[in-house]
Amino acid sequence: MKLTCILPVAERNVFRARWLMVGPDRILENSCLETENFRVTGIPGRSSDANIRDLGGGIIMPLLVNAHTHLELSALKNRLDYTKGFEAWVKDLLAERDAIGTEALANAAFQEIDDLMVNGTGAVGEISTLGLTANLLSTSGLGGVWFNEVLGSNTDILSEYVAPLPDRNTSKMPALVFSLAGHAPHTTSPELLRSAKKTAFEHCRPFSIHLAESQAESDFINGEKGGWAKFLASRGIDISDWPVGNKSPVAYLDELGLLDETTLAVHLIRTSGQDLDILARTRTKVCLCPRSNYNLHQRLPDIDGLLARGMAPALGTDSLASCDSLSLFDEMAFVREKYPGVAPETVLSMAGINGAKALGLAPVMGRLEKNCWAGFLYVELESSSPAQIIESLTFNEI
Ligand SMILES: [Zn+2]
Repeated sequence: MKLTCILPVAERNVFRARWLMVGPDRILENSCLETENFRVTGIPGRSSDANIRDLGGGIIMPLLVNAHTHLELSALKNRLDYTKGFEAWVKDLLAERDAIGTEALANAAFQEIDDLMVNGTGAVGEISTLGLTANLLSTSGLGGVWFNEVLGSNTDILSEYVAPLPDRNTSKMPALVFSLAGHAPHTTSPELLRSAKKTAFEHCRPFSIHLAESQAESDFINGEKGGWAKFLASRGIDISDWPVGNKSPVAYLDELGLLDETTLAVHLIRTSGQDLDILARTRTKVCLCPRSNYNLHQRLPDIDGLLARGMAPALGTDSLASCDSLSLFDEMAFVREKYPGVAPETVLSMAGINGAKALGLAPVMGRLEKNCWAGFLYVELESSSPAQIIESLTFNEI
């Protein structure tokens, strides 16, 4: 794959390639991209600038957005068996993660950040449970949201989590902001989830949560008394005031008031039509990780159902503990293979502008228009039409 990520600079630059993608819906032939002061300043058909940089016969396109990663788990690549079931996988993951140690975990995350950028990603929605990736991301060229994840029932921890929410640095692009995530409806108390969501909202940050992923989650929220309920009791967690029973995880979060357009719900592989209606009504943002879902659960999210309701799902890769790469080109190719009815332009939007919207980065990321951030991706390819280009990009035939 011949990809080049070009990060913006303050000086004026004019780039040219045979093709220029403003967004998946607009691909121009023989246009230029003018940039200055880290922003796109214009897209003229031709430029008389003497210092024009001709990149070649490929395409200049927006950087991709990976809306769900766990970079802290990068060291677990190829170390876990997906075939033993989700519960066994979680158990193995925690044991391996502890055995590896924080220094090796951080080193692997550092390398993976580099790899993400080489593979065309400009921003991430990073979920952190150990706090290892905040500094790594802050000093990288990646933008996005670093989510500090809360888990359990102890609301006292929240004050520690709130303190490091620095102000949004608008002078630096792409912006990297800090926020909070809840782990999942069945692992985190309603009180802690509500408090974390409220804090994120008050700081004008997105809030993220894994939702409708495991069978244990669905059973527990539906009111099953064994299994997960017993596990929480064995951990000393009092669930007597958790309003579970006769409902789905999506309906449960709706009742808790957690679903709105600044919440990013991740996975959604166990949803009914009613659940999708709730997500559409509340304008909840959605991120899907199909390769990870397929590996861990042999299930896939209902992309057609989401699209039919006018929703704009983003794509994520989850971690290297549950899939082979953090490349969105790989993720797009998997979506094309498993969802032949989804339009190629839609798949490309899922890996770009939809992720930017989900993370609060639009309109400056996800498109190349005047005033957008001037970081971009150049892909060397030989195609004779916009439709062919999108085919090549989404099938990872580049
Ligand atoms: Zn995750």
